Amino acid sequence: MFEVIEKSGSDWRVAPNLRDYDALCRSFDWSSERQSLAGLPGGGLNIAHEAVSRHVAEGHGARIALRHVGRDGAVSSVSFAMLDEAASRFANILESLDVRQGEAVFSLTGRVQAFYSAALGTLKRGAVFCPLFSAFGPEPIRARLEIGRGACLVTTRTLFQRKVAQILDSLPTLRTVLLIDGTAEDERERIRSLPRLMEAASGHYRTAATSREDRALMHFTSGTTGRPKGAVLVHDAVVAQAATARYALDLHRDDVFWCTADPGWVTGMSYGVIAPLVSGATSIVDEMEFDADRWYSIIESQKVSVWYTAPTAIRMLMKVGAEIAHKYDLGSLRFLASVGEPLNPEAVVWSKQTFGRPFHDNWWQTETGGIMIANFAALPVKPGSMGKPLPGIEAAIIERTAQGIRVIGEPDVEGELALKAGWPSMFRGYLGEDERYRKCFADGWYLTGDLARRDRDGYYWFVGRSDDVIKTAGHLVGPFEVESALMEHPAVAEAAVIGKPDEVAGNSIKAFVSLKAGCKPGAELERDLMAHARRRLGPAVAPREIAFRDNLPKTRSGKIMRRLLRARELGLPEGDISTLESDERT
Ligand code: ATP
Ligand code: MG
Repeated sequence: MFEVIEKSGSDWRVAPNLRDYDALCRSFDWSSERQSLAGLPGGGLNIAHEAVSRHVAEGHGARIALRHVGRDGAVSSVSFAMLDEAASRFANILESLDVRQGEAVFSLTGRVQAFYSAALGTLKRGAVFCPLFSAFGPEPIRARLEIGRGACLVTTRTLFQRKVAQILDSLPTLRTVLLIDGTAEDERERIRSLPRLMEAASGHYRTAATSREDRALMHFTSGTTGRPKGAVLVHDAVVAQAATARYALDLHRDDVFWCTADPGWVTGMSYGVIAPLVSGATSIVDEMEFDADRWYSIIESQKVSVWYTAPTAIRMLMKVGAEIAHKYDLGSLRFLASVGEPLNPEAVVWSKQTFGRPFHDNWWQTETGGIMIANFAALPVKPGSMGKPLPGIEAAIIERTAQGIRVIGEPDVEGELALKAGWPSMFRGYLGEDERYRKCFADGWYLTGDLARRDRDGYYWFVGRSDDVIKTAGHLVGPFEVESALMEHPAVAEAAVIGKPDEVAGNSIKAFVSLKAGCKPGAELERDLMAHARRRLGPAVAPREIAFRDNLPKTRSGKIMRRLLRARELGLPEGDISTLESDERT
């Protein structure tokens, strides 16, 4: 259907970090990757030291770590030395507030500079950092602070007044709230002004002597399939985050890197903060949300070379059309990558046509802490495939059996995606859910809950989350396949597919579709879409019903929530929807 996108060596403007995939897979070991990091002067490992202090100690403090684009478009630069100093001040503040090693510091803020000093300062202190998405309402915030036993929260005055003040009394472990834009007048019991404390604090801090296995981060999952889970990562995660930035994102020190994820999600932390800083690259931080013109103008003016975004954003760019992209000089772009949801092959082909470069899909989860499967700069891209496992990562397609699991050796068979446990950024627990954590592992493998298949060339293809897969008339149908076929139709902007109980077939396939601007829903378009789907997929897999929607329900991180569509369709309880993108609950 879609041709493999071959890349020739001569196309390389910068030689990729990973040129021979098979050779690196053979020679790779995590301990040599660990050795490329500095380590703490007295032994041990600390993410903040690798991210900022190390560069300063090595004489690179003047290099630009962040280029912050404010709401009004004004750009301010933060050097590694400035960031290191701000993090030290924050660590001193935590110490003065008696926030101890291992205690949790939460943030509830957008992409502001204080977020970076809080995250890195918390790690320097040896405390555990947990970012929250700032559009959450009071209840999801309260629940997460309670589960994670937050001792300190960093937020803004507005967010505090709107969302936190009302829940403060129900959070006895939360001893201090630091207001990023607070003043002396805001200060009262448990509430402090961060600027006042920052001004008074020393800019020197001796980083806590954390070890590889000490807790560093907590991240709540997106809640696509149910109640969000709190995954715990340790300082050793930085080994995998640095290695994957080098090999999967092809990040070089001279790159201008833009990870568009919100800092409230794991991508925003692993690849929005840690990985680019450790690599010594310059990161773009845009305070605003998605806007096609704004994004293209940032790429043009900031000369972004590596861009890491999500399918939902790419589909929005496709929806507004390639003409907008052509108004800008996007020639600085060298490597484009995507994560978070399956990337429809249509989007990869569109990107090649529009930017002259394909998006490289990669796959990972909050639980994996870093990229696990990727399309690499030096390998051909197969549109619709998530690529090959990172060197150092052993992936397999498995089947759960009564005895444990069976690894499926032969190619092109669908099964659950599993990863051999033990890579450095693997989660070390779910907050308060030990049994659930244990159940994720069998015979030394971590079971991801996603279904996939591996082809003869070793590329992995996403089929669906195990909860979303549809059994119809004896077939197992992954919603992604049906959605991607619908997306090929010129009128379709987004599609979501679910199974609906059916007496004859077990389940029948229903598609929800949102249309591109200027396309009108109606019986004629429905017939046309049905015919297109039958042609592409065959009658057994094509949807039996198509419903038009202005927008599809999505998680706060932009993922289509099929479980909610299914629950609404069947009149079932909607479960936890605290992570829903629209403001229905929050
Ligand atoms: P929850 O676990 O709470 O239901 P979630 O799984 O969406 O939410 P995340 O950890 O943010 O939370 O997302 C990881 C999941 O996102 C993966 O398990 C997979 O289902 C999906 N995903 C991520 N990247 C890709 C990709 N490249 N292709 C297909 N699916 C992807
Ligand atoms: Mg998940």
